Parts: sequence; structure tokens; C-alpha cells
Amino acid sequence: MTFDAAAIRAQFPGLDDAQKGKPFAYLDTAATAQKPRVVIERMTALLGREYGTVHRGLYRRAAHTTKLYEDARTTVARFLNAERGEIVFTGGCTDAMNLVAHAWGQAHLKPGDRVLVSGMEHHAGLVSWQAAGFRPEPIPILDDGSLDLAAYDRLLAAGGVKLVGCVHISNALGTINPVAELARRAHAAGALFLVDAAQSAPHLPLDVRALDCDFLAFGGHKVYGPTGIGVLYGRKAVLESIPPWRGGGEMIERVSFAGTTYAAPPARFEAGTPPIVEAIGLGVALEWMMELDRAAALAHEEALFAYAELRLATIPGLRRIGTAASRAGVLSFTLPGAHPADLANVLDMENVAIRAGHHCAQPVMERFGVPATARASLGVYSSREDIDRLHAGLMTCVRLFG
Ligand SMILES: *Cc1c(COP(=O)(O)O)cnc(C)c1O
Repeated sequence: MTFDAAAIRAQFPGLDDAQKGKPFAYLDTAATAQKPRVVIERMTALLGREYGTVHRGLYRRAAHTTKLYEDARTTVARFLNAERGEIVFTGGCTDAMNLVAHAWGQAHLKPGDRVLVSGMEHHAGLVSWQAAGFRPEPIPILDDGSLDLAAYDRLLAAGGVKLVGCVHISNALGTINPVAELARRAHAAGALFLVDAAQSAPHLPLDVRALDCDFLAFGGHKVYGPTGIGVLYGRKAVLESIPPWRGGGEMIERVSFAGTTYAAPPARFEAGTPPIVEAIGLGVALEWMMELDRAAALAHEEALFAYAELRLATIPGLRRIGTAASRAGVLSFTLPGAHPADLANVLDMENVAIRAGHHCAQPVMERFGVPATARASLGVYSSREDIDRLHAGLMTCVRLFG
């Protein structure tokens, strides 16, 4: 299959939103991705004549939805090169990370045990641990926005590290972290490795066997699927070592007041009626992605990213935050004299949508000495025209604030 960028873009009704003759340049895919028509239409049908519960119905409708729900799990497993039993449906990436911090952490971490997380974690990968009662230590960031690997080695060598968590692609900097290598070093030190793939899942082919990670989390809404659904991959033996986190229906084997026995993973971690329509919608989105020529899609996104970097480099005074050799998808920047929110407001008048703020990564802002950045981020549907309109809007900002 060839990669036809215009035809792909045309599949996204959310992008068709011109205001006063100005087309919509959606450059906030790192916050959430627009949805292709197949996902919207499939989910609409699922809420209508195909709607039913899963796992307990004895009638055909429930058997139908159960099959679709479990087929979606198979799709996720294929997307990650995992086994079906290693795929837990969660409420999102944040929810998946909290499952690890709370359920795995509280079962396995003893006083004195250490957890390392990158200094560029999304708050989901940092605050989840703190909320669960732990104090993860940061792996420092170098000036270009890459991880300090020598410092990582020293942190590991000091001993007692039981788990290392790291974003695959930073949503604040765009840095692609060498997670397979980080996992190898973590394992050599006797620690498990957790990948936050929220930003990489939409861009890079993922293979949990090749990455050799123990956990990997991502959310549905950034991979062109719905909100309210996410995935936790856990290596089989690791999932089996974790007691239940939330109790309720679906996750039990046998219940009595004298004591309850629990289902095996993944059901053990899916208490209650799951997000049925969302899980199936996620499966549709992943099938849609896997049907793309992924090498061509990646090449398209890389070319567009390179183009965006060149265009931003021509804006007088613009400071890029995050210039690591390996980066993708996300362009963070500041402009002297303007708060990032001012930039976002001016661009919004041009119907160009970017994000301004700390991007749920306040330690990163602190590291680079800025309260916030403006961030443009790309998806598979992004175009050169989007970038050109960003450029034109930023030139207006230079005139207004410069
Ligand atoms: C968006 C994001 C999250 C949170 O994902 P949700 O699915 O919205 O909970 C976590 N980590 C990173 C790097 C993100 O970009």
C-alpha cells in the first residue's frame, strides 16, 4: 500500500473545521489525537444496535459484544507483539501507570527499595508513585533534553533499585529515549522496567519482546481511538505476581464472606463492567493504524517534523526546548516577550491549535528554567500547510510581542 497523506487526512472529520475561511490547523495531537471515520462510525453502531454487556450474558447480543471485546484484546496484543493474557484494559495511560505504582508497588516494594523515573516523566509516571506512598528518584536530563546515561548508571550502581520507569517519547521535549538499552541496564541491576508509551504508540512500531520491558502503558485517545480506555502490558510472570488492586465483579473466581479467590490476569485487574465500546473502538483504531503502510507513515511524519524544525528555526528569537539528537512529534519552544499562552491565543485567532503550559511535566519546565512552553505536535494527518500556518502565526506574534 502506498501512503497518500491527503487521503488519510480526509478520513478525519475533526480536522474539517474552517473558521472565517481559515482551515483548521490542529497541532495538538500530543494532547489528544483526532479520530478517523471508521472509529467514529464503529463506535456509533456499537452504542446502537450492537450494544450489550460482556462476559455474563447468555443471549446472542452479549455473546457478540464479548467476542468483539476479546477480539480487541487480541488486536492490542498483536499491536505490541504480546500475548492476549498480558493485555489489561485500563481507563487510560494514567490509570495503567497507577495500577503499576499501587498494585505492583505496594506488593513488592519494601522499605529501602528504590524506584527511578526519568526526569522527563509525564506526571502520570511520577505522581502515581508519590500518590502510592513512594519517592521515586529522577534520572537527570542533559541540556539538549536527552537523559544523562552516566548518571543513570551511577543511580543503578548504588543498589536497591527495584523498578525503572521512563517515557519512550517525552510529551514535553519530543526526546526519544533509548528504552531498550535502558531496560537492559535496569535488568542487569535486577530492576524491572516500565515504558510509558503514550507518545510513542501513535508514531513508532512497538514490540514488547524487542524492547524487553516488563510493563508498557498507553492510552486509547492518542492512538486515534477513544478516551476512557488504555492498556497496560505486563510480562506474564510479572502480572501473575501482582495481587488485585480494585475489587468488584468480573475479577473474581469465587466469592464468599469467609474469603474470595481471584481470577487470573488480565481479568484480575478489570473489576466491574469495562469500557466495552471504548475497548472495541481502540481495537478498530489500532487495526486502522496497522493497515497503514507504517514505514511510509513514519517517513511522512519524520519529513514533516524536519520541515517544522526548519520553519521554526527561521522565527527571530524563538528558543527551542528539547534538541536531543533523537526526537519526534513534539516541538516545544518559547518566544521572548510573550507568554506561551499569548502565542496560543494569537494562533487560535488564525485557527491554529497549539498547546501552552507545563504539559503535565513541571520538573522539565524547572530543569529548563521556564514556567511553560508553547508546543506544536504532529499526527499522521498533519500537513505542510499546518506548519506554514503555524509559521505565519508566529511571525505575527514576533511583530506583536517582539
Ligand atoms: C498523555 C500522556 C499520558 C497520560 O495519558 P492518558 O491516557 O491521557 O491518561 C502519560 N504519559 C505521557 C507521556 C503522555 O503524553
